[in-house]
Amino acid sequence: MTANPSCDRRALLDAAGIDKDAIAAHLGLPRPLRKSQLALDYGIAFERQVTRQEEGALVPLLRQALGLALPAASYKDINSVGSDSTSPMGLRHTHTSSLILSAARHQSEPYTLLDHPVLTLNVAGQQAYLEPDVIAFHHDDIFHIVEIKSFPVIHGQPDPVKVTAALTQAAAYVLAMRELLAGFPPDRVSDTVILINPRNFSRHPTATRYNAAPQIRHLSRHLARLRRMPDLLDTLPAGTTCDLVPGPDAVPTRPRDEVIAALATMQPHYVPTCRNHCDLAAYCRTEARNRDSIGALGPAVRDDLAGIDTITAALNLADGHMRPTADRTDVTHALRHAQRIHDELRNDNT
Ligand code: SF4
Repeated sequence: MTANPSCDRRALLDAAGIDKDAIAAHLGLPRPLRKSQLALDYGIAFERQVTRQEEGALVPLLRQALGLALPAASYKDINSVGSDSTSPMGLRHTHTSSLILSAARHQSEPYTLLDHPVLTLNVAGQQAYLEPDVIAFHHDDIFHIVEIKSFPVIHGQPDPVKVTAALTQAAAYVLAMRELLAGFPPDRVSDTVILINPRNFSRHPTATRYNAAPQIRHLSRHLARLRRMPDLLDTLPAGTTCDLVPGPDAVPTRPRDEVIAALATMQPHYVPTCRNHCDLAAYCRTEARNRDSIGALGPAVRDDLAGIDTITAALNLADGHMRPTADRTDVTHALRHAQRIHDELRNDNT
C-alpha cells in the first residue's frame, strides 16, 4: 500500500483480504521480482552491524545526521519482549506504546533508541500492525524515524527510486507514531527521517537526513481516501467477487475469465515499480500497455509528458503525424528533439 497508494485495485484487494498471490498463480502470471536470499542476508547483517551495541555505531551516526551533541542514548530492542520476535504482535505493540508514551511524558532517559517498535495504523477503519525495521529515536521532546537500508550511497548519491520508496515507508511509521501520540502536537514526531545506508562499496554505514513531508502528505491523503472505502466499494458492480472457489483439493475452480472480469472492475494505477512489490504486476502491466497508457512507462515519463495520456499520441506528436495544440507545443519540441537524437544514434549504428 505504501509503495503504490494511488492504486484503487490494490486498496480494494487489501481491504478485502484477498490473496493476490493465489490470484496470480491461478492466472498463470510470473511472480514479481523478489530480493535474492543473498541480498536479504546482506541487509540483515548490515542492520545487525549498525545496531550492535558493542560497536556503538548508531549514536555517532545520529550525532552526524542531526547535529546533536549526543553523549549516549539508552537502547531498547522491543523484539526482546516476550519470548522472541514471534511473540504476539499485540503484546509487543502494548510494550512499544508504553515505552513511547513514557518517553514522550519525560518518564525515561532524554535520549532513547527504540528498536523494532510495533506500531498500529488506521487503514480503512481497521487497525493494521506495522512491524518496521526502524528505530524511533527520542531526543529533546522530538521523535525521529531512523531506517536502516542496505542499498548503498555511492559518492553521496543513493538510488533516488529506492530513497523515495524508503521515505514512503517511513511516512507510514511517522503517521503511526502520530496516531499513538494523539493528544501531543504532531510535530513531536519529526517529518525529518534518517536513512542509514552502506557507504560506497563498503559496509561502512553513513546517515543522511531527508525531509519526508511530501511522502507524509501523500500517504495521509490516500489513507483518508481509504477511510472512505464505502465510496470505493460503490464503484464496484453488485456481486463483484474475487473468490477463486477452491475445490476439495484447494485448487481454484473459478473460470479465469471471471476473475479477470472482476479485476477489470477495479481501477489500477500501474507503475513500473509494481513489479517489485505486487503479485499482480504482470497482469496490470499488460493491461496498461493494452490501454496504451503513458503511465505504464513510469512516473518520470508521465510527468515529463504531462498532458499526453497515451503512448500512441506521444509517438504521433514526435513523428509529426499529429499537430500539437498550443498547450502541447513545448512537450512536442522535446519529443521531436529526442526523436532526432534517437534517429541519429540509430543511423550511426547501422
Ligand atoms: S500491480 Fe496492479 S494491483 Fe498491484 S499495485 Fe500495481 S496497479 Fe495496483
